[in-house]
Amino acid sequence: MTNKRRRIYLLSPKAYSPETIAVAFAKTSRSPQPFDEIAAELNDESSARFHEKWVVGYGHSSVAEHAVLHLALENVSRLAIETIEANRLASYTEKSTRYQLWDADAYYTPDELDGSPYEAEFNHLCLRLFETYLACIPPVKAWLQDTLPQEAGESDRAYERRLAPAAVDICRFLLPAAALANVGVTINARALEYAICKMLSSPLAEVQAIGERLREVGQLETPTLIKYAACNTYLLAVEDKIAAWSQRINAQGCEGQDFSLLDWDQDGEARVLAAALFRFGHQADAQSCLATVGTLSGEAKAQLAADLMAERGKFDQPLREFEYAHLTFEAVMDQGAYFEFKRHRMMTQTVQPLSASLGFAVPKGISASGCEEAYLEVMRQAGRLYEQISDWNPAVASYVIPNGFNRRILFAMNLREVFHFCRLRGATNAHFSIRRVAYQMAEAVKKVYPLLGSYLDMPSDTTWEALEGHYFTTVRTH
Ligand SMILES: Cc1cc2nc3c(=O)[nH]c(=O)nc-3n(C[C@H](O)[C@H](O)[C@H](O)COP(=O)(O)OP(=O)(O)OC[C@H]3O[C@@H](n4cnc5c(N)ncnc54)[C@H](O)[C@@H]3O)c2cc1C
Repeated sequence: MTNKRRRIYLLSPKAYSPETIAVAFAKTSRSPQPFDEIAAELNDESSARFHEKWVVGYGHSSVAEHAVLHLALENVSRLAIETIEANRLASYTEKSTRYQLWDADAYYTPDELDGSPYEAEFNHLCLRLFETYLACIPPVKAWLQDTLPQEAGESDRAYERRLAPAAVDICRFLLPAAALANVGVTINARALEYAICKMLSSPLAEVQAIGERLREVGQLETPTLIKYAACNTYLLAVEDKIAAWSQRINAQGCEGQDFSLLDWDQDGEARVLAAALFRFGHQADAQSCLATVGTLSGEAKAQLAADLMAERGKFDQPLREFEYAHLTFEAVMDQGAYFEFKRHRMMTQTVQPLSASLGFAVPKGISASGCEEAYLEVMRQAGRLYEQISDWNPAVASYVIPNGFNRRILFAMNLREVFHFCRLRGATNAHFSIRRVAYQMAEAVKKVYPLLGSYLDMPSDTTWEALEGHYFTTVRTH
């Protein structure tokens, strides 16, 4: 019998720096010593030397994943947050447009506009957007009182807690991308280095400045692992080169629909079922499992799917085997919906820059509460100012675009993430803009994967068309 005792303990960041923890873990690869003994022999200098040699020198970058930082970012624009959150391997929590109100001057004026002919107009527009946002809330709330009456037994406080977010959900369409927000980020040093590199390569001065500052504060905890983060010439060059191609070959046209399933594994359901047999069956190879599923009757496949889902509880994820079915979609959604959509890290997303070209949505609550005229006027003004600034600097022009404007997104995901997304974003407490997207997705998935799609968990009492009719006067002005 071995005299080796199981030990499970923390290498606490209270006792060791993130870089020392990363070295202690890295060294277990070659050293038989316990982790705490390795860590006890290290200090900041020896840890830095190790990282210079192995992580920076030999490119053994995965070691840097053991150094984790918690970064607090305050008063950064929502446009900048897009670049910050464009990193899959990190965790974020940000100020919600659903549960908080924005102050009338809580927006960022881009440094690029300093002394430009657009500076005054930009500030004027942002103030008007915020003014309209705040002015719309009381009438929208009054309208909501008629449409969402207080329930029997519901206290005044509980009713207010229900009404206030519902009103803000409607008025948030007016908030521009320049609106300031706070975001907390938990990220490891490997992902942070790349995140900073992307920020330093951004065309926006604000994002570059945030990248510089993140490198500065990050180095207080991880002095070696992120110090070489720099602007990436590949990221800079590729954009110019492909944009030039796009012009040369005239890659234009907007023939597509606003939501479409572009591509999917034709045998996706069979792959999922076969992978489940592969996992729990009797050592059969993958080809044989797929072939066996192909021989099953429709009824047997339905029963196999039913057994796969039978004991699944309310909060259980489908098994990993659902990841063997892949789908690619294209969607147009308002910026408010996209801002929530981008938080789903398990899918591949490609988004076009914010612009005014796809028009904007008009929420029903804005029209029904008598705010439509003011809303349309300021949104159209934002669209016009976008066009003017865009001729001079398209990246900076994005700051004026309010949440209600539409955006086109290409995205690919597996069936497991479809289940996760639809459950979370199709739920009644999700914002109606993203609920609409979740129902569009569910409808498309059910058509191609009827067997497994029938288990998507979303309330069955609505459709995306019904949501659109109930919550929007129009989803797209043009
Ligand atoms: C009603 C509602 C209110 C919300 N309010 C806010 C808010 O106020 N502020 C805010 O910032 N966000 C808010 N969110 C967003 C929410 O917190 C999630 O970040 C977002 O929905 C993305 O989903 P997800 O985290 O489940 O993961 P996805 O990125 O879609 O990943 C899918 C699954 O993979 C796993 N996973 C992915 N990454 C990790 C990881 N790093 N560690 C562990 N597991 C991981 C999890 O099981 C996760 O569920 C809200 C969401 C909803 C539905």
